[in-house]
Amino acid sequence: MRLDYNNKSLREVTMTCDADEIARIMYANTTHISMYFVITLSAVAVFVGTKKIFSKVRREMAQMTVVVVGAGPIGLTSALIAVQCKRVKKLVLYEEQSKSNVERRSYQIAIQSSNVSLLRSYGIDFDNLEGLWHNGCFYTRVGIYLEYIIHVLPLYSTEVEINFGTKFCRESSDVVDNLTGRKLVICCDGSTGLASRALGLSDECVMHSSGIFGAVAAIERNNQTLVPTPEKRVHNLSFDLSAYVSSAYEDDGRTNFTLKIFGNSKCRYLALAVNKCDSNVVRALKTVLDKSMMRNIFLKCFNTYKRSDEASISDSYCLNNMKFSPRMYEIKLSQRIESVAYISDCDLFIITEGEASRSYNYNTGMDINIGLKGLTALQPFIEKVTLAETEHSIMKSLLFKMEHSDRICTEFLKFGLREYMFL
Ligand SMILES: Cc1cc2nc3c(=O)[nH]c(=O)nc-3n(C[C@H](O)[C@H](O)[C@H](O)COP(=O)(O)OP(=O)(O)OC[C@H]3O[C@@H](n4cnc5c(N)ncnc54)[C@H](O)[C@@H]3O)c2cc1C
Repeated sequence: MRLDYNNKSLREVTMTCDADEIARIMYANTTHISMYFVITLSAVAVFVGTKKIFSKVRREMAQMTVVVVGAGPIGLTSALIAVQCKRVKKLVLYEEQSKSNVERRSYQIAIQSSNVSLLRSYGIDFDNLEGLWHNGCFYTRVGIYLEYIIHVLPLYSTEVEINFGTKFCRESSDVVDNLTGRKLVICCDGSTGLASRALGLSDECVMHSSGIFGAVAAIERNNQTLVPTPEKRVHNLSFDLSAYVSSAYEDDGRTNFTLKIFGNSKCRYLALAVNKCDSNVVRALKTVLDKSMMRNIFLKCFNTYKRSDEASISDSYCLNNMKFSPRMYEIKLSQRIESVAYISDCDLFIITEGEASRSYNYNTGMDINIGLKGLTALQPFIEKVTLAETEHSIMKSLLFKMEHSDRICTEFLKFGLREYMFL
């Protein structure tokens, strides 16, 4: 009897054949099922394997374009970090000033030892930078630092396009929108910059009190050449203001001012700070608007604590050439509320860095260090952003940056001024 078991159900066959045939049919059926099972399993395995390999290759190859706005110290350092990330296929930089104006910037920056290590790890060769080492800090003219980075950026394999004399505005943001693939804009356009607003971020800032009162002064001496000069800090100063205000304002011994003299030999800056208190002297310096009082304090401070190799300043020179805060004020850290964003329509990430993100209403002479601290998270952020595929991973990368930014502010409020002024 011929058994066409392929076309009959097992029940039909059972009705027309003996036990041996049933066994043979069952064996044939089982072999068939196993074969189908193996084929299906192999297909699934090949599919999963290919998907994994494809996804791995895609992850390996994932790249994006980074646009930096602003060629100040933080913008150019961001650019230097970006060109060294394998995830960055192209870097575009916008700076509204000319290259020569950027390189001519004359004020002095002091780079703290922790940031020196960070910058060394990104290839900054401090031995080839004109400057001065003092207590682990590197002092140089900011233009020298900027010129160095402008020079080395094209030496990396990443494609670099630098646009000097080009202001980033609403039209530029349209150009960025139309770039193909994923892109990240890093807004480093300083405390008055508007690039992030052009991209849709809010300008709103939150002001954090530092718990410290301060005042600053600047003296420019055009007859001097620009020579890097180390800073000088003096602690536990007190002032007798009885010549200016009634005896009620005489020092009651509760104030300990700290003074810092910094800047290069030509542009000298003075910063005065005191922990928030309501002593008579502090109250007088905060409320009495007698300009000569502050001017004389700064003049006396400079002439007493200046470097031994520099000339004193006369009353008349001070009167005509010193700029200063007319009274003491509360030092506050301003933090931009929206410092990260993702625009899904054009696959665009936006972040703010440096003074575009956070800044003090006070000059410590180490201001760029707070901006550099923000950049410690830039490379991992670029890595995360390039690989983020799902809504969840995009949110996670934004959160990573926001938390880092908040941490910088919290730590700076706790330790920053202490480290830059009081130690
Ligand atoms: C007179 C002076 C003296 C200082 N002295 C010291 C000091 O002794 N030590 C110290 O550490 N710090 C000092 N600072 C502070 C220091 O300048 C800042 O901390 C530092 O420059 C901040 O860097 P940044 O890159 O965030 O911003 P910035 O240096 O302000 O750079 C922003 C850049 O963005 C550009 N830009 C703005 N808008 C646009 C746009 N729409 N399109 C394109 N480009 C744009 C600007 O031209 C600028 O080049 C001083 C500042 C001043 C003004």
